[in-house]
Amino acid sequence: MTKRVKAVVFDWAGTTIDYGCFAPVKGFIDGFKSIGIEISNEMARKPMGLLKLDHTRAIAAMLAEPISEEMILRAYKVFEETLFANIEEHCDIKDYIIETVAALRKEGIKIGSTTGYTSEMMKSVILEAREQGYSPDFCITADSVPKGRPYPYMIWNNLMEFGISDPREAIKVGDTVADITEGKNANCWTVGVIMGSSELGLTRLEVSALTENELKDRKTAVRSTYYKAGADYVIDDMNELLDVVAEINRKLRLNEDRKLLTPGPLSTRQSVKYAMLTDHCTWDEEYKDITTSVINDITQISANDDYSTILLQGSGTYAVEAMIDSLCKKNEKILFLVNGEYGKRMLVIADKLCKNYDYLEFDMTQPIDVKTLEDKLNIDRDIDVIVFVHCETTTGIINPLEDLVKLSKSYGKKVLVDAMSSFAAYDIDMPGLDIDALAASSNKCLEGLPGLAFVIVKKELIAKCSGNSSSHSLDLFDQYQCFHNNGGKFRFTSPTNVLLALRQAIDEYKKEGGLPARKKRYMKNHEILTSGLEKLGFRSIIAPEYQSYIITTFELGNLDFIKLYDALKSKGFVIYPGKLTSMPTFRLGNIGDIYPEDIVALVDAIGNIQDV
Ligand SMILES: *Cc1c(COP(=O)(O)O)cnc(C)c1O
Repeated sequence: MTKRVKAVVFDWAGTTIDYGCFAPVKGFIDGFKSIGIEISNEMARKPMGLLKLDHTRAIAAMLAEPISEEMILRAYKVFEETLFANIEEHCDIKDYIIETVAALRKEGIKIGSTTGYTSEMMKSVILEAREQGYSPDFCITADSVPKGRPYPYMIWNNLMEFGISDPREAIKVGDTVADITEGKNANCWTVGVIMGSSELGLTRLEVSALTENELKDRKTAVRSTYYKAGADYVIDDMNELLDVVAEINRKLRLNEDRKLLTPGPLSTRQSVKYAMLTDHCTWDEEYKDITTSVINDITQISANDDYSTILLQGSGTYAVEAMIDSLCKKNEKILFLVNGEYGKRMLVIADKLCKNYDYLEFDMTQPIDVKTLEDKLNIDRDIDVIVFVHCETTTGIINPLEDLVKLSKSYGKKVLVDAMSSFAAYDIDMPGLDIDALAASSNKCLEGLPGLAFVIVKKELIAKCSGNSSSHSLDLFDQYQCFHNNGGKFRFTSPTNVLLALRQAIDEYKKEGGLPARKKRYMKNHEILTSGLEKLGFRSIIAPEYQSYIITTFELGNLDFIKLYDALKSKGFVIYPGKLTSMPTFRLGNIGDIYPEDIVALVDAIGNIQDV
């Protein structure tokens, strides 16, 4: 179900009525005067929005000398008398309220309200406002909940009344810091209004007496106060609220729950995304410790203490390029084994880097052939390094890693593997096979967020790689030195939030049961996917014995990819185009935060698609 704004919860004085929020100000000044204390207008206003007794206490807390509770209650009593005497004069409806409320209701949006007034005070306010044509669907006062603002309880009562389960479908609109904080605490969207607000604190006459620049400065100050309090939007006047509603609806649509059936970026867990909410800096000790723990945990997934992980800012390709450039000496000859686009991309990289290289190319639908490699190694004695992709994400084919590495090693070659889409889902025994290095990234089977890549490399090898790299920023040796010598410090700005998310993703990986459990889930996903699509008449292009349980390519037949994409997206599934040149195909990944039930739903959705 698409989410949309279902309620707007307005504050009263200063927001919908009482331009400038003047009714309470005089009351507080008179109240404190009655106990012999002069307070300024500004002091009287500062805590505006709180339940009025809390407001009185907050003013008392600002005084140089503390005063007794009894004095506070005396001041409050005079405040109430003054307020009740003049409240009815301060119920003027603010600009654009009537027409905005009518337009909101036309969109099916409920009009709620919260206030710092007590229910006694609100009695006449509600009547006066109704007489002028403003009457919200729900009204609750601070004295009828356990705690008023900044606690979110009044808003929650509104949501309860309107039957809203997700507070992100409600907007809190107000004219004070207390309003914004209340909205934030309720997890609603928050909007601060400037003109006629308590925060601006001016009458209409005072506003019109200001020069254009003076008014601009005052408005800027109010705007930044709201933003500092955490407002999502700040508007001059209420006639801008409908645009805000449209903008929030657009964001809600964009954030709709959808499953990415792609090889990356992937669907990630909420907890992983939430881990990004803390800001850290690169050289902070606590952060460096987290970085070190990520390095160590990644290493242990496929290797041991003879290896280390070098994290690198960027997408997976950055790590592949850094690996090729940093781990091969300038005079070393590289042999690339290619059976897909990611293999071809390495040739482009090698060209750019002016590497001495050769390559063997295989049909994209066939695994890299071990015998062909052996023949090549027998003919060409100059080759020093073998590089290939483990799971070719272009098609979803899985290459014979063990056989390729064993053969290369028996010829004494260095072996570098692009294991981007297989790492953390396939058993890769780096020490057992003597693999020299492997490149992968945070956003494939580790189910972290995009932006971080890494190379797991033999310590013995990296120690000898000084000066290899022709790039400064992609120099793995320098990057390693920095991590190593500075207790986990990134060289250059670290993608701190992405790293925290990766820390969380690895924790979830362990909790799920590590590689065996993740592998099992992906295999199950894959099995449901392929058997389901086969039943619907789709043919996968890779023979089952070479097919990975990561991503699968299907023949598109006479379907139109764009139409298929749009139809599935509207059902909450995002698919991936094929990359095969010989025939039209599409690809479906089953990695990420994806479960068998999701795949069942996907197969169902594909089965129910018509006219594509
Ligand atoms: C995803 C992937 C990459 C890296 O691609 P980026 O877009 O740079 O993250 C490299 N190789 C393979 C096999 C991949 O699946």
